[in-house]
Amino acid sequence: MAFVDPALQHAYDGQRLYVDAAATLNSLRSAPQKSAHGFEIVCLGVGGGPLETDCSCYAIKTWGTSWLDSYVVIEGGSWLGGMSRVLELQASHQCAGFGDLALSSSPPSSANVSNLSGWTSKASSSSVSSKVGYLASRAEAFLISHAHLDHTYGLILASAVTSPPKPVYALESPLAAFEGIFGTGVWPSVVRREQSPEFARGVDAGTKPARTAQIHNAAADTGVGYVLRALQPRRPQSLTKEISVLAFELSHGLCAAACNGEGSGSANILAADHPHTTSGPHERLRSTAFFLTNVATGQNLLLFGDVETDRLSRTDLNYQVWMHASEAICQGRLSTIMIECSFDSSQPEELLFGHMNPAGLYEELKVLARLVAIRANTEHASRWDGALQTHALSRPTEMNDDHTAKRGAKALQGLIVVVTHVKASISPAKRPSADDFGAEHAPLEVGPHDMRDQIFRELLALEEKFGLGVRFVMAVQGMKIDC
Ligand SMILES: [Zn+2]
Ligand SMILES: [Zn+2]
Repeated sequence: MAFVDPALQHAYDGQRLYVDAAATLNSLRSAPQKSAHGFEIVCLGVGGGPLETDCSCYAIKTWGTSWLDSYVVIEGGSWLGGMSRVLELQASHQCAGFGDLALSSSPPSSANVSNLSGWTSKASSSSVSSKVGYLASRAEAFLISHAHLDHTYGLILASAVTSPPKPVYALESPLAAFEGIFGTGVWPSVVRREQSPEFARGVDAGTKPARTAQIHNAAADTGVGYVLRALQPRRPQSLTKEISVLAFELSHGLCAAACNGEGSGSANILAADHPHTTSGPHERLRSTAFFLTNVATGQNLLLFGDVETDRLSRTDLNYQVWMHASEAICQGRLSTIMIECSFDSSQPEELLFGHMNPAGLYEELKVLARLVAIRANTEHASRWDGALQTHALSRPTEMNDDHTAKRGAKALQGLIVVVTHVKASISPAKRPSADDFGAEHAPLEVGPHDMRDQIFRELLALEEKFGLGVRFVMAVQGMKIDC
């Protein structure tokens, strides 16, 4: 099999990815329409379990600013532990991590002193844990796509040491689930709700971001780690002075009465005759896709929480995200999408538990490609709706056959798709027997093995077949992404 991009294949060659990731992604960030910088991202954790040391968590700041000024965190699976691990990897030059924020014991250069104000005295010569504490204190806000522990575990643990309280944003359903963890015997009650005044009034339905609600009354916040603020779907809101967010609902499988694990893939079958069910015995589990906007440059980043295909969910929730994404791509405001692919193709579809496999992910990208192609061929925005009608594409499933996919060929040329949330396999490749422990036998392959290799190859094979122009990058803990 010929690889689409030898440079990327080289980048994803075992541990070298840690070293090469920043350079690779910088070299790839020149999507054709792209005209301005957007964000810098450090992957503090990229997996979907079961390894608690590498679960979903991404630190994100606007491009060119300092990590010591302000940033936001999306997902909190391996929050402080993930940051600690990344700083250790960075100190031994195994990942790009926080880049120029020199985390060695030597003082910063004079040229960087202004940016590193406070860092030297508090952290540069101290332990990793104190560096983590100092850097973590600069996080201004958290976003969570849903409340599963691989997205919230680190955040929950850190709640006891987070002071003053920081805002945690999520759509109402996942926020309520997150809130439910606290004060129930699982973890102390160290959160409180806060409603944005704008949302309470039900105004600001336009495109202007609502103002961030103010944290009130410091005395009332004693012992409070997080202030919980509900986002409203498809309504932009400011997270910081530099970053706003637009949240879209996603489907993450169905949560049956005896819901266990992440969603319920088998429950999809049970609900096949009731595709739009959102309540009842097989309630749909909501997750979230976030469009972040760099307020100064207008550049976007699209990051998905856990998600399944529209075909399996029988909804058009992803389609609505792609509609928005296609517009941003055509306007040169979106060059990078971070999206999950939890399993390789050996996982039966009925056991995806509300997640993606390579075929499902590529199926969704075909929909995006077709939408981009239609927009690109539609000169005037006013004709956009008509074009959709003409192509009879109001039903997402019609976007997915090979014929329509070919019409979207190369439509996503240069788009970087960072693949996240791969489930680590902890099953031994071969079950050991008594004989296997003899000294003359070759060592067994035991312990966690990385499914990323297989998923990457399967995605490249699909790209080679259909040629959408996508460049796949497998996320790794410690990777730095500029977009
Ligand atoms: Zn997850
Ligand atoms: Zn999940």
